[in-house]
Amino acid sequence: MTAEGKRACVIGSGFGGLALAIRLQAAGVQTTVVEARDQPGGHACHWRKEGFTFDAGPTAITDPACLSELWQMTGHAMADDIELMPVTPFCRFNWPDGTLFDYSNDEAALHKQIARLEPADIAGYDAFLQFSAAAHEEGYRKLASVPFLDGVSMVEALPALVKSRAWRSVHDIVSKHIRNGKLREAVSVNTLAIGGNPLTASAIYALIHKLERDGGVWWPRGGTNRLVAALVRHFERLGGTLRLGDAVTKVHTLGNRATEVETKSGWRERFQAVASNADVMHTYRELLAGTHRGRQMARKLASKRFSPSAFIVHFGVEGTWPGIPHHTILFGPRYEGLLKDIFDHGVLPADLAIYLHHPTVTDPSLAPVGKSTFYALLPVAHLGKLAIDWGEVGPVLEQRVLAEVSRRLIPDLADRIVTKFHYGPRDFMTDLHAHLGSAFSLEPTLTQSAWFRPHNRDDVIGNFYLVGAGTHPGAGIPGVVAGAKATAGLMLQDLAR
Ligand SMILES: Cc1cc2nc3c(=O)[nH]c(=O)nc-3n(C[C@H](O)[C@H](O)[C@H](O)COP(=O)(O)OP(=O)(O)OC[C@H]3O[C@@H](n4cnc5c(N)ncnc54)[C@H](O)[C@@H]3O)c2cc1C
Repeated sequence: MTAEGKRACVIGSGFGGLALAIRLQAAGVQTTVVEARDQPGGHACHWRKEGFTFDAGPTAITDPACLSELWQMTGHAMADDIELMPVTPFCRFNWPDGTLFDYSNDEAALHKQIARLEPADIAGYDAFLQFSAAAHEEGYRKLASVPFLDGVSMVEALPALVKSRAWRSVHDIVSKHIRNGKLREAVSVNTLAIGGNPLTASAIYALIHKLERDGGVWWPRGGTNRLVAALVRHFERLGGTLRLGDAVTKVHTLGNRATEVETKSGWRERFQAVASNADVMHTYRELLAGTHRGRQMARKLASKRFSPSAFIVHFGVEGTWPGIPHHTILFGPRYEGLLKDIFDHGVLPADLAIYLHHPTVTDPSLAPVGKSTFYALLPVAHLGKLAIDWGEVGPVLEQRVLAEVSRRLIPDLADRIVTKFHYGPRDFMTDLHAHLGSAFSLEPTLTQSAWFRPHNRDDVIGNFYLVGAGTHPGAGIPGVVAGAKATAGLMLQDLAR
């Protein structure tokens, strides 16, 4: 028996949902993606205002190979649908005392940059890179697209976890090898890109460094939204159906089987397999409300740690800045204290650390001629920790963020702004059903990873699956795309029975 001709539904069109849908459709499964919003992409949605294109979420495409595989499977070429442009440097780190550090995969240039901060750290950095390479091999290449469904799979992964010193934190391992405080910040901060606290996330997530060094950092011409559009085009070319603007309200079950999917508009269809790419809490608490399993999982999830949220100021400005790279991190005066404020204390820090996205330096098509598009992102505690009135705080924080960018990089910014708006924790919750407004779902701690994360196939409802940031292996485009491979493998195996 094969899965061909069977019918599957994927709820949600984030990167994970689309990658899963492509894999199913490519295997001959009649797949329908049902998306609540009027555009696909989830966290990677976008806005167009006054000639500017603002991508909402992901800005750094790493491991392009995990994406191109989605085309190669059917003999197609990703390049026919989307052009990926290399980004160099990968990121510029900028400290309040004026110190700059350009991170790239040009070994000689990188060593020179390290030597400027601390010559003795060249060897330490190389040792860290070796550690990161081992973690990448074990944690990403071998395990990211393998589902962890039972304790046995976790026992089997133990050697990999031991090799990666998984019980230690990313920052511990970085600090073991690197002495300079600024370098420690530069090398560990990318853990935030998957919602992890560098001070507590398992050292296995140090794999991100090797992932970036090997695969590079890329930008889809026209924006991340064009990459989403390319995935949709490919899915539809294979015969898949995308239903936009119609939120799923209920997954019907009979015994321990999912039977039908029902939406807000009253559309109701029968499927042999159903996967949810929506937020995990929303999935169990709302979509499976009324089932024992839904209530049980919602209770369990309520006791978990969720990743922080983000506050993002989008702004389109008059002028161009060839000297401001595509990705900059403007560190503040504190690092560890700031992380504790966000992850533990749940307060809005008095000092700011900002990730500044400047896509028009790579791709001017995102703004009218002679103008530039930016976004400035602050990681902030999620709504369960930080109970403030974002309606009131948002505009004030927006001003603070713009003032800091102006002070550090663009002195006359206020006079140059053509359009601006901000997006925060409440928006993640309202627009994407994100539990507590978390931007990355469950926090990637050791006790919330692999088997300890909600499973790619539900333990009770045998034909119900998860895909996306809330299941194994976790957030980030490479993570959810690898997870889609794990989920697709299970679904195809089950549908072929
Ligand atoms: C600001 C920001 C910056 C980031 N930067 C990067 C980066 O540079 N590189 C990187 O790799 N990753 C980055 N990430 C992480 C990455 O974007 C996410 O982990 C990833 O996109 C999540 O994909 P997903 O498959 O979990 O789906 P999601 O994006 O969470 O999409 C889920 C979809 O489900 C839909 N949905 C929800 N409920 C329903 C319902 N009831 N019915 C139908 N549909 C429903 C939602 O509308 C949404 O479209 C960033 C994230 C954020 C927030």
